[in-house]
Amino acid sequence: MLSTEFQRRTIPLEYAFGIARETQTETEVVTVHIEDEDGRVGIGAATPSAHYGETAATVEAVLPDLLAVVEDVGDPLHLERIERRMRETVRRNPAARAAVSIACHDLVAKQLDIPLYRYWGLDPTNTLETSYTIGLDDLETMREKTTAALERGHETLKIKLGTDRDLEIIEMIRDVAPDVRLYADANEAWTPREAVSRIDRLAAYDLEFIEQPVPADDPAGLQFVYERSVLPIAVDESCSTLPDIPRVADRCDIVNLKLMKCGGLREAVRMIHTARAHGLEVMCGCMTESHASIAAACHLAPMLDYADLDGPLLLADDPYAGVAMPSGRIDLASLERAGTGARLE
Ligand code: MG
Repeated sequence: MLSTEFQRRTIPLEYAFGIARETQTETEVVTVHIEDEDGRVGIGAATPSAHYGETAATVEAVLPDLLAVVEDVGDPLHLERIERRMRETVRRNPAARAAVSIACHDLVAKQLDIPLYRYWGLDPTNTLETSYTIGLDDLETMREKTTAALERGHETLKIKLGTDRDLEIIEMIRDVAPDVRLYADANEAWTPREAVSRIDRLAAYDLEFIEQPVPADDPAGLQFVYERSVLPIAVDESCSTLPDIPRVADRCDIVNLKLMKCGGLREAVRMIHTARAHGLEVMCGCMTESHASIAAACHLAPMLDYADLDGPLLLADDPYAGVAMPSGRIDLASLERAGTGARLE
């Protein structure tokens, strides 16, 4: 017998978080707890994104049906059956399904008394550093945020772009942080021609890649940019679920998968392998998420080329703790508890 509950929380962000299409000051998280008869509790969470058609209200609307699937299946170890039946129950709503998938994985690993990475057979020392994201703001605030990130020891920053000040922003960041690894994310803001000329000029600042230069609904534009770009191209909004991978495979170098887009941890693992089969590099990114969901994504780190799992680092006050990320390094090896490591503080 499993018992389930969920709770909606509004969590303020440390800084207003600006991207090309919007700015947010708080994040809505719906946490899910699934408890077995021995009192072990699996923890998960949804951070819905309106861009993908979800809100906290839609998550709350479908969770009773999704949790009914889990209760009906009864044994959380039937992860494949649970994820398949959840997809059959609500075809969209990936963040809601992800919350339940994460909680089930956490509970399974707790029942087996192992950290989640061991369930997947992964080496926790083969980890990497998450980037820390500098959201769009006025130049002075972006400079302050960058300085604060450096003081916290971050050596990989992801800079939000997609404005008419993009070159100024990167010039300022490089001035403040000459030695860090830099990623840039335009969040669909450029036209294809604009993207090619911007990337030409941005390349002088030693960026590792450019993420989502053009709108997701312009695959021809993405191809145009990919064929002409002097920097590697990552896609995020263009790639949500597994069937998107073959569609973008000859138009990018890196796919940025997110649990809140793909709807579950098993789907995420399948996407990683599928991307590899297409010769792509893999990043796991996130929304402005709590440790309640990021802890699970951290266990994928040994399979990734890039991690952008800084959600909890952007929150002013996360009620959950998870996998430690000192200076951004995802420290799986020192995790001393079973499951994902997510716990209510
Ligand atoms: Mg992105």
